Amino acid sequence: MNNLKYLITVFICLTVLSAAIIYLYANDNVTTLSKEDTLVVASFYPVYVAAENLVDGVDGITLKNLSEPQTGCLHDYVLTPEDMKLLSDADVFVINGGGIEAFLSEVAEAYPALTVVDAGINIEKASESDENGHAHDHEDEENAHYWMSIPLYEQQIEAMRDGLCAYFSTDKAVSQKDGSNRSPDDHTTNIATQITDNASAYLSALQDLQSRQADIAEKLAGQKVILFHEAYEYVAEDYGLEVAYLLDLDEERQVSAGEIADVMQAIEENGVSLILAEEQYGKELGDLVSEETGADVIYLDTIVRGGEADHPDAYLTRMQNNIDLLANYAAKNKP
Ligand SMILES: [Zn+2]
Repeated sequence: MNNLKYLITVFICLTVLSAAIIYLYANDNVTTLSKEDTLVVASFYPVYVAAENLVDGVDGITLKNLSEPQTGCLHDYVLTPEDMKLLSDADVFVINGGGIEAFLSEVAEAYPALTVVDAGINIEKASESDENGHAHDHEDEENAHYWMSIPLYEQQIEAMRDGLCAYFSTDKAVSQKDGSNRSPDDHTTNIATQITDNASAYLSALQDLQSRQADIAEKLAGQKVILFHEAYEYVAEDYGLEVAYLLDLDEERQVSAGEIADVMQAIEENGVSLILAEEQYGKELGDLVSEETGADVIYLDTIVRGGEADHPDAYLTRMQNNIDLLANYAAKNKP
């Protein structure tokens, strides 16, 4: 009899324990969107990773990425019904800025109450007042691949931090959630503090990355390069490289024979020995030109593709890989 009692007790304990485990596990893996949570939506991957760092461990914020992880850059991106649905639930929409989110006016029209945090807001101002401004090849659209420059990315983090903190210090952040008109309570003030702390930690990690980049830049500065992606104009700037020719392969497109001839000519005339290209759209041409001219081609990561489950360190690791590739090149080609 005692044995049976014992068995029943063990059975009950095990049942309760496994139910608890299942409950915890489910809660950990399913994004629970509590009504109390503030929904922050990022426009695409680099913005998402940046925001991930800022809201890391902050209670009361749910972060989502707007576009599909494999969308890449948002040039010519058309919002899907799912995107519109997500934005209709969003409290804050964090964008890269600089015109990459071409659909922004559409969003503003549909959801006038949505708070937009523009991470590029200070960069645009800076480039407008830049007297000897770096001429970008596209006159119609500014080069908004800011995150490819570590110092500009840092400015984006600061703008994001300021925008999010501003949001959490308005009554909107509170009243939207509980319908009352209270002023910012302890909870939102606490959120702003945590975001500020997170931003400081991330910025200091970025500073380290920047100084590692500066060490390599010292060895490469002044070298002439050919770029097969507009985003690398910022890489060239960070490393002090001189751009001899830019062929912008940011999407699937045909490269004309004339363009290839121009590339070959630019390499020959300028004695270029380095090409920076992107794997997805630049591989074919990169390999071809490298073979024909003997110039080295480095395939750098534009950090535009990834998933919501990616570690917040994704930018740091992937940018470090880019630095390592250039460091290897510098070591191999010592003067
Ligand atoms: Zn792009």
